[in-house]
Amino acid sequence: MAVEKSVDELKMEIVEFTRRLYMRGLIVGTGGNVSVRIPDSPYILVTPSGLCKGYLKPSDIVKIDMNGRVIEGRLKPTSETHMHTEIYKARRDVNAIVHAHPPFCMGFSCAGVPLDKPILPEAVIVLGEIMMVDYETPGTMSLAKKVAEAAKKCDVLVLKNHGSVALGENLEQAYIRTEVLEEYAKVLLISNLLGGPKVLSEDEVRRLRGI
Ligand code: 13P
Ligand code: ZN
Repeated sequence: MAVEKSVDELKMEIVEFTRRLYMRGLIVGTGGNVSVRIPDSPYILVTPSGLCKGYLKPSDIVKIDMNGRVIEGRLKPTSETHMHTEIYKARRDVNAIVHAHPPFCMGFSCAGVPLDKPILPEAVIVLGEIMMVDYETPGTMSLAKKVAEAAKKCDVLVLKNHGSVALGENLEQAYIRTEVLEEYAKVLLISNLLGGPKVLSEDEVRRLRGI
């Protein structure tokens, strides 16, 4: 069994993965937010609101309860706190959430074009089904409820005219899903420009999903 990480280690992990999101252009400006569940507790750690997430320090991370109440930390928790807490309530198996604004993925989300073509084995294995969630104002409980409902059925979501949400058993998995989602959106766009992708067969998709 994996050794559980301490709160300090989880804060450092959030700092490391938000830095990677920023350096790879998966978030820009003050966009995006990340959270992790503190093992064996009713609390989660979230990124602060309104700061560039590429330069966070462990002391910037905020500890909150499942109602969004601040337990520890001097900064305001993410404006998407409802979205994070509602997902954790809906999915007991999820321990980390990455909400990003990846540009190619957002292109599909703004055009309302689904990311549903099985073209890359890695994307099929790592992402599974990708659901699109209808637009709601960022930071609202109505967005949180819609996202949490969709999250009962899949681990990767695209929010129309907004961005991505990836869930994981741990932060690395949620981060990798975000990275692979963006790569997949980019390749799908390129193959569309080149005459349309040749999709993998249903048999092959079944085989890959079994891996
Ligand atoms: P926060 O800085 O409040 O987390 O907001 C960023 C964001 O992406 C809102 O959807
Ligand atoms: Zn956002």
